[in-house]
Amino acid sequence: MFLQVCGAAREVTGSNYVVEVGKTRFLVDCGMHQGGDKEEALNFAPFPYDPAEIDFVLLTHAHIDHSGRLPRLARAGFSGPVYATPPTCDLAEIMLMDSAYIQEMEAEWRTRKASRAGRRGIEPLYTQDDARKTLRLFRPVEYGKPADLAPGVRVVFHDAGHILGSSFLELRLEDQGEKVKVLFSGDVGQPDQPIIRDPDIVKQTDYLLMESTYGDRLHEHNGTPKAKLASVLKDAKRTGGNVIIPAFAVGRTQELLYFLREIFQENDFDMPVYVDSPLASKASEVYRKHPEAFDEEAWKLVKEGGAFDFPQLQFTHSADESKALNGKRGVVIISASGMADAGRIRHHLKHNLWRPEAHVVIAGFQAQGTLGRRLLDGDKRVRIFGEEIAVKAHIDEITGLSAHADQEQLMAWASNFEPPRLTILVHGELNSALTLERLLEERLHFKVVVAEPNEIIDLDGEVGPSA
Ligand SMILES: [Zn+2]
Ligand SMILES: [Zn+2]
Repeated sequence: MFLQVCGAAREVTGSNYVVEVGKTRFLVDCGMHQGGDKEEALNFAPFPYDPAEIDFVLLTHAHIDHSGRLPRLARAGFSGPVYATPPTCDLAEIMLMDSAYIQEMEAEWRTRKASRAGRRGIEPLYTQDDARKTLRLFRPVEYGKPADLAPGVRVVFHDAGHILGSSFLELRLEDQGEKVKVLFSGDVGQPDQPIIRDPDIVKQTDYLLMESTYGDRLHEHNGTPKAKLASVLKDAKRTGGNVIIPAFAVGRTQELLYFLREIFQENDFDMPVYVDSPLASKASEVYRKHPEAFDEEAWKLVKEGGAFDFPQLQFTHSADESKALNGKRGVVIISASGMADAGRIRHHLKHNLWRPEAHVVIAGFQAQGTLGRRLLDGDKRVRIFGEEIAVKAHIDEITGLSAHADQEQLMAWASNFEPPRLTILVHGELNSALTLERLLEERLHFKVVVAEPNEIIDLDGEVGPSA
């Protein structure tokens, strides 16, 4: 028995692991590499295994850095089942179709550019057809119910509290009388997020494969997100300005709506709220369909009319409805992408950034080089669709909103385990992983390695006593 770390080794994206038990060979996650041209090129590289020989895939959650190469895998010969929780199956449907559409558009754009330079065209990473074929392979598995997937392979999906449907996987593997327990953390959520539950607690495993995204950082807190958002809204209400919020379509948008509903209920004012993102509208539908995955508080609200639905809320669908928002004043517009580097949000920023009474709320991580980052850094002029736009709007940052556990929260989650035989750190930049490694060793006396790309970890070999 062994596992191989084929992606997300010393980087955050591209999660992909092979596990071999006897004659069975399966994957955990098959995510896309993201970040820049170099990372994106990795998605086109051949898989370090034969996709036709993979028996099945276990998917921890729907985020593209965990699911995004599944259609590529199917295109390369994989035809087995993909097991995931019911909400993950539904979210993966909208996210993989959206990703395939983006891949096709991108290839078309690059092909046009290449033809003008007299070069050959570019094939998309995969097409919407590939994505549809992949989606037919999905098989839902409920949280907490042990599933026997092959001789010597039993899995239980536990709630990871990261996004709707997210899970970590408890695997019980057995080969020739030898038994081991392996736990894949997936992405560990930040406790106390609205709507979804907190990460489950597991106490024992032989091998722990753990994410380390925030291994060297703590979330910042400049007051509670709700209080900060309320003060921005009050100011906008007073001056008649719009509030523009770039937000990830899955998770962050629903979380913001949850806060908006509370703010309007607790104060004596309200504003029209528009969600202008086809993906966010579809994701909200999936959330509504799965209240069984909500926490107790949100579950109660569902019975009272909705955890994130309220009378002032409207979802726009067509491009015309989206354009009509340009003429509105005194409204809240939530749109994607979350870092303002693509999508409809750019139109809304173009129409509002130059207005001194407008507010732009930055409510999530902004990578270097994105429009969101430039606004946060205080740039006074930005280019949107080739046009120079003066930044006169208020730029308000809301910190503390994150789907990921930070260093302290990762340590708290890990502290529930008796020291495993070996902890393997993945899904984090090198410095994050090394910092978390040191903390786990010093404070919890875990034996830890930071996985190297394509490293093979023997699951039945002698590991020795924990340090
Ligand atoms: Zn994730
Ligand atoms: Zn991830």
